[in-house]
Amino acid sequence: MKKRVILFIIDALSSQMCVPAIKEGRLPNLGKLVEHGFMKEESVSIFPSLTPAATSTIVTGDYPKQHGILGFHWFDRKNQEVAYYGDDFWIVNALGFGEFFDDCLRKLNGKRLTSSTIFERLADEKMKSASFNFLIFRGKTEHKAEVPLWFSWHPKVPFKQELMGPDYLYFGDFVETREYDEKAPRRSGGLLGRFGFNDSSTADLVSFFAEGDKFPEFTLAYFPDHDYKAHDEGLESAFSQVKEFDSTLGALFDRYGGPEKTLEKFNIVVTGDHSQTDTTGDAEECKIFLESLLEGFPLAQPTEWNDSDAEKLMAFADMRCAQVYSPQTDTPYLSRIARKALEDSRVDQVLWRDRDSGYIRVATSDRGECRFKLSENGRGHLDDYGNKWIVEGDITALDATLEENKVEYGDYPNALERIWGGLKNESSADIWLTSNIGYEFVLKGVKAHVGGGSHGSLHRLDSLSPLIVGGVRSVDTLPEKPRLVDVCPLCLELLGV
Ligand SMILES: [Zn+2]
Repeated sequence: MKKRVILFIIDALSSQMCVPAIKEGRLPNLGKLVEHGFMKEESVSIFPSLTPAATSTIVTGDYPKQHGILGFHWFDRKNQEVAYYGDDFWIVNALGFGEFFDDCLRKLNGKRLTSSTIFERLADEKMKSASFNFLIFRGKTEHKAEVPLWFSWHPKVPFKQELMGPDYLYFGDFVETREYDEKAPRRSGGLLGRFGFNDSSTADLVSFFAEGDKFPEFTLAYFPDHDYKAHDEGLESAFSQVKEFDSTLGALFDRYGGPEKTLEKFNIVVTGDHSQTDTTGDAEECKIFLESLLEGFPLAQPTEWNDSDAEKLMAFADMRCAQVYSPQTDTPYLSRIARKALEDSRVDQVLWRDRDSGYIRVATSDRGECRFKLSENGRGHLDDYGNKWIVEGDITALDATLEENKVEYGDYPNALERIWGGLKNESSADIWLTSNIGYEFVLKGVKAHVGGGSHGSLHRLDSLSPLIVGGVRSVDTLPEKPRLVDVCPLCLELLGV
């Protein structure tokens, strides 16, 4: 009989802050997991290193190329509509509650997600699973969504709606599994508590399931507060949230009679979806306005792109990356946009797809340019995961080297696979920009995290989270240098699927 698995996701958990803290005993309960298991200090996120895309990777094991969730913003080419799941997601009033509800609860977990989830795969194996506040929850059990009273006056509110989730689905103030209706902790997040999407609500659910040992075979519990606090106050200040999580883990150990006894029943996996880096406190310097950066190119309103915008670019600012959709996609035109963007030294890389040749191009202002594609004939340079790449030009644009037919990475871990996995989706932008550490892309009216923290780029500081596995000493199929795409297969293997 395989042990049950609990996967804890701490949003923006960073290797930089947490690995030393675990080693120095400042996170004693995470330390216990390592003592009775192992830690991979640097697990590499996807590109873009943004929550909706990265959390989709966690439950599917796929890159955005396959799962279809491309970041905070993208233009859904097939349905000709803008998808938006930004950081100010919870300001649902501005978006309109009906749209929030439809987009988040239904589309994000419906037609937009084009890979199967771990919850669906476990249901096929007749195994039960639970999701506590995780954004991507699609499963095979029908649940009724409830509109909190607070919103019930709002126009365009569907009063009730069916959603497909795992056997036990808890999603903020909106969904809770009926089976435990009477006894489950009351979640009354409201507007200030992000409608129940907060650490204390997830911790309450963990404690409720521990009481009477109600955990199913697989549970995914999501802790979002660390990311919010790091955005506002920087990583050092947000460390208090990791310590709070450590206490939640300690309380779980206590319920089961200590870490050894807990880990006899469960394998416990802890990781982040991406990391985060501090931003500069100088408001002028911090913000890279896309309107100025792309001056000379007409920009459409980012909410729509209709026939009258046929000649305009559509640009989205997603913190330390930005996306540009262009009506003209020929190489000379895209190169002109790239060159214009690189006039600003705060821009790090410009990445774009060369539709004719199938290559992806990478340009920087100070480290040259290269282009690459996945090899189809067995030749090329090998990465750590068995991919072979054809690379032309100066790969220092990605701080990498090509030696003895191998790709070695520096500041942008696993860059080729991550770029390929992000840009090769049909709805991906024509051009992506990344910013240097400390800066963020904005459009007029978009809030920047001045003097706080940010993420989104390929840089190691935005991308590396520890991966901690308690209850087992090693897992055969886990690569030596694990990635976010390995988390789902890891959990399935631990469950014997
Ligand atoms: Zn974030």
